[in-house]
Amino acid sequence: MASKTGEMLHLRGNALNAGEPVTLPLTQSSMYHLPGVTEGLRTYGRVDNPTWEHLEHVLAHLEDAPCLTFPSGMAAISAALFATLKAGSRLLIPSDGYYVTRLLANRFLSRLDVTVEERPTTAFTNGGFGGFDVVFVESPSNPGLDMIDLAVVAEQVRAAGGVTIADNTTMTPLGQRPLELGIDVVVSSDTKAMGGHSDMLMGHVACRNNDIMERVEEWRKVSGSIPGPHEAWLLHRGLETLDVRFDRMCSSAQVLAVQLAAHPAVKQVRYPGLPGDPSHKLAQAQTARFGFLLSLTLESEEKAEAFINDCPLLRPATSFGGVHSSAERRARWGDDVDPAFIRLSVGCEPVEELWQAIEASLNAL
Ligand code: PLP
Repeated sequence: MASKTGEMLHLRGNALNAGEPVTLPLTQSSMYHLPGVTEGLRTYGRVDNPTWEHLEHVLAHLEDAPCLTFPSGMAAISAALFATLKAGSRLLIPSDGYYVTRLLANRFLSRLDVTVEERPTTAFTNGGFGGFDVVFVESPSNPGLDMIDLAVVAEQVRAAGGVTIADNTTMTPLGQRPLELGIDVVVSSDTKAMGGHSDMLMGHVACRNNDIMERVEEWRKVSGSIPGPHEAWLLHRGLETLDVRFDRMCSSAQVLAVQLAAHPAVKQVRYPGLPGDPSHKLAQAQTARFGFLLSLTLESEEKAEAFINDCPLLRPATSFGGVHSSAERRARWGDDVDPAFIRLSVGCEPVEELWQAIEASLNAL
């Protein structure tokens, strides 16, 4: 699984003419100079933008597949679903994945005569996939970090005549490659580790099927779900350091998971890199790294809040994947987890410093 991030850093440079800027220009324009014939030209800011185009070129290199960018992860997920579903379709989604995907399906798609069914990630293949037009998976799931064998799902859904969509937000293309495992469409919230600095929202769709991608692009154009050029520029800049950030974050998460599991104030730790974790075997086979997300369950909601709010190297915030480590109790959003369950996103702080701060906060509970 070569990441090719070195080549990625020089994609623009190697195509430059003498005198052009090495870094990506930010084009803030809704209009293009269009005297007369418009054939083959950029026409309007909702349709084309050179900053997106280069970003999509870089993303396509990372994913090894055509990519289209969106103003958030949910915008990318909506585009993939609207491009693949129609009235009368049956959609299967995880019952324990990112909750807003469930809201989109149950509150909006179901009103358009799409039948929505849910299954937990660990039992996702139970019952087979016959009759489903679209099967949406999230592995590792957010926040439980349960995993599903993507190759098995892809094969069974294809045999049953359906389309698979995988949300790869928690892993990024450097950690897991769903398209290579046979999944039809990848969606990602690039708000998280891809951008990496918690300063914008973005998302993308990656897919090798031309018909699906044409519909995704048409959806973007017609619905107006387009990224701002500045956000596209920020995501491009973030991607330039993805490799080094992701490497540091995953290595630190492994160290912290082991230390947290041995701390007396911690009742349970979930991290796919721990040999005893229910996701470990599958993660070893399916992912290049074990990720930067882990969860810990403390004794009570009060202790969990005190830990999150008092640790000076943890930002008490929702979202994840940034350079700053962050944590939150997921029960506050209604996720079906213990009230003392904390999702912890490991950032880029030196791991010794991070552990000292975490250990001191746990000791103080
Ligand atoms: N998918 C997953 C797994 C997420 O965790 C999130 C956000 O937390 C999203 C999608 C939605 O992304 P965004 O907030 O960029 O719309």
